[in-house]
Amino acid sequence: MRTPGLFEDWRATQVELLESCEGLDVELDAIRNRLNIGGRISAADGIALLQHPDIHAVMKLAEACKQARFGSDVHFNVNLHVNQTNICVLACRFCAFRRGLRSEDAYALDVEGYISSILPYAEFIDEVHSVGGLHPEWDVDHYRSLFSATRERFPHISIKALTAVEIRHLANLSSLSIRDTLSRLKEAGLGSIPGGGAEILADSVREIICKGKESSQEYLDIHRTAHELDIPSNCTMLFGTVENVEDRINHLIKLRELQDETSGFQCFVPYPFLPDSSRLPEAQLASGNEILRMIAVSRLMLDNIPHIKAYRMNIGDSLTELAIRCGADDIDGTVIQESIMHLAGSNASLRHGIDDLCRLIERSGCSAVKRDTTYSRFERVASPQTNIPRTLATVR
Ligand code: SF4
Repeated sequence: MRTPGLFEDWRATQVELLESCEGLDVELDAIRNRLNIGGRISAADGIALLQHPDIHAVMKLAEACKQARFGSDVHFNVNLHVNQTNICVLACRFCAFRRGLRSEDAYALDVEGYISSILPYAEFIDEVHSVGGLHPEWDVDHYRSLFSATRERFPHISIKALTAVEIRHLANLSSLSIRDTLSRLKEAGLGSIPGGGAEILADSVREIICKGKESSQEYLDIHRTAHELDIPSNCTMLFGTVENVEDRINHLIKLRELQDETSGFQCFVPYPFLPDSSRLPEAQLASGNEILRMIAVSRLMLDNIPHIKAYRMNIGDSLTELAIRCGADDIDGTVIQESIMHLAGSNASLRHGIDDLCRLIERSGCSAVKRDTTYSRFERVASPQTNIPRTLATVR
């Protein structure tokens, strides 16, 4: 079955475009050949790409793979982030967002508060993205009430909510299996789940940066169960803490293997650790160069995950403009409000409407395409020749 949004003959086009990449050394030429033959490269290739001195050549290969699938199209959606609570029973060392129950600036939106947060934007958005802390009292029934009220009030809005660790937390509080938890949430209106919480899928690193969070295997199992229940999900990677290059590549391999089984991941979102207000002084941090390279290598390694997102909320607009020329085909949507990355030091603009997002995409020589949450409907946003507002046309 064809994945919506992908050009039908992209594999043949990829061979053509990769062949046209000039000036590769012997090592990159061998990787290009492996991409051409099977479309899949090894963990050793991934490590070589992360360490290769010629970042431009690596970015060129990734851009060829992206162009083969989507041409110059770059996707975005019209969404709103609502973080339902910052109260959390865990205290991950990289997290600047969580608060203790008695903290002065702790908050927890009740159902009415949550609905009120959406209301001013409801007419314009088609997705609400909600993740938050692990509230000590909110179980599955609380989230069922939240989602069913949202669905009833705003039937056109798709609910993308709850990371794997939140799902595990609800399951534990409710004495339910992960499968039963997800089934009940889906029944109440949950449409898809975001990829947050993957951090690095290496338990030795998780022990240092997020002790008490779900294990690597639990993260993969929760997403597998969601896929089995026809709940699509995204996957992420937080890099630039204390991991090494092998950890980063093994992370990609684990996601690729699960995707071989389920095809349930829609999008991969790699983003760097931001240090403000966190408790991880030993973090190596990631340079702009490394961020772009990680996006490029993700495109080259993850041949079976169609979309690679440049997480604008984390890396900012300037790097996003470069990222969509080295493998990323997707950027954050309108978002409107965001706390998790901004408390950690992001200064990405929250004032982007459709026009701003289109301009950002067009500045990089790409074409803006509005998508829905599940990447199943795509509308090209026509460039305005005059002052006439932009128009949408269904493209795929
Ligand atoms: S990352 Fe999530 S689970 Fe960890 S402390 Fe922050 S809110 Fe809690």
